[in-house]
Amino acid sequence: MEKVKTCKKCGKRFRLIPMELKFYKRFGYPEPVNCPNCREKRRKVMRNPHQFFKRPCDQCGKDIITTHDPKKGRIVFCEDCFAKYYDRVDPLEADRAPDTSGKVVKV
Ligand SMILES: [Zn+2]
Ligand SMILES: [Zn+2]
Repeated sequence: MEKVKTCKKCGKRFRLIPMELKFYKRFGYPEPVNCPNCREKRRKVMRNPHQFFKRPCDQCGKDIITTHDPKKGRIVFCEDCFAKYYDRVDPLEADRAPDTSGKVVKV
């Protein structure tokens, strides 16, 4: 089923087609909150946004799937560690805060 959402950035309405929704669900990513235009702008800032990497969680070492290239040296936690981390640390004050949580690879 198609979804119509309102962009959090520019307020425009945009559609999410079933194929897209499936994709986000499959990789455990949240549905986008920005319209394709705003996402395109962000994409120019971030490199390889649609590339997925398998890498260990920087906290517990479990294999996770993330969009962050391990070579770039960003800290990425699995969902569990991410949640625990932000239970303890104020994200605004954490300078070594993980960029995002990755999805744990289901075996
Ligand atoms: Zn927008
Ligand atoms: Zn972890």
